[in-house]
Amino acid sequence: MPLLVTEGLNKHFGGLHVTANVNFTLDEGDIHCLIGPNGAGKSTFFRLLLGEYAPSSGRILFDGQDITTLKPFERIRRGMSVKFQVPGIFRSLSVRQNVEIALQDHIARGSLADEIDRLLAFVGLTDAATQEAGNLSHGQKQWLEIGMAIALKPRLLLLDEPTAGMSLEETHKTGEIVQSLQAEGMTILAVEHDMNFVRQVARKVTVLHVGRIFAQGSIEEIMADERVAAIYLGEVHA
Ligand code: ADP
Ligand code: MG
Repeated sequence: MPLLVTEGLNKHFGGLHVTANVNFTLDEGDIHCLIGPNGAGKSTFFRLLLGEYAPSSGRILFDGQDITTLKPFERIRRGMSVKFQVPGIFRSLSVRQNVEIALQDHIARGSLADEIDRLLAFVGLTDAATQEAGNLSHGQKQWLEIGMAIALKPRLLLLDEPTAGMSLEETHKTGEIVQSLQAEGMTILAVEHDMNFVRQVARKVTVLHVGRIFAQGSIEEIMADERVAAIYLGEVHA
């Protein structure tokens, strides 16, 4: 059962055709990675899914319902959540207070402390709970933000380059967090450059190129596809 579907999705910026007739299906319970060279249209596609951009044509269905014209907050209310690349944490508050902010108004007072503890353990920040968020390492800040993004138990978590700037070890740990979210039933769509991460977690990979779906398959199929290798030639990766 697909959780998210795009039908003939198009986005033009003036004469630029940045999303070109994208028919995309995200299955419930999957970890799906979206890759592609710079300028392929990954961020634009992401913004279309979130409702930050309106498509020029086409439809977006979430859980079988047409959400094409819904505002971002309405999509969030229906069970979508996003973690952007730049952390939106409150730097002068503690790690615990940050998670509390993400939860408050949404959870009964009596169970708030337990739920904060559960979320902190989930993203490996139990020992850092009383630290000021601004003093966390780069990786820890990203995990805190994931904790905040999943506080309301979304059905779909969208991740924008979740491992950007991370060490190999941090990248691996992020992969483990994502896998544990999937084990809890969450569906994850990640735009990601880091092939170590993609190899670790992806059940399915979609390659975008000049706004179109260029290839799709398992990570093994994508890695073995010479046409995919060819579009990456000349790309510099961090
Ligand atoms: P990616 O994230 O894969 O690197 P983007 O979606 O950011 O690709 O960009 C795809 C193309 O769309 C690029 O050529 C970019 O310059 C263009 N583009 C993206 N956003 C805008 C915009 N707001 N206005 C005009 N052109 C844009
Ligand atoms: Mg981008």
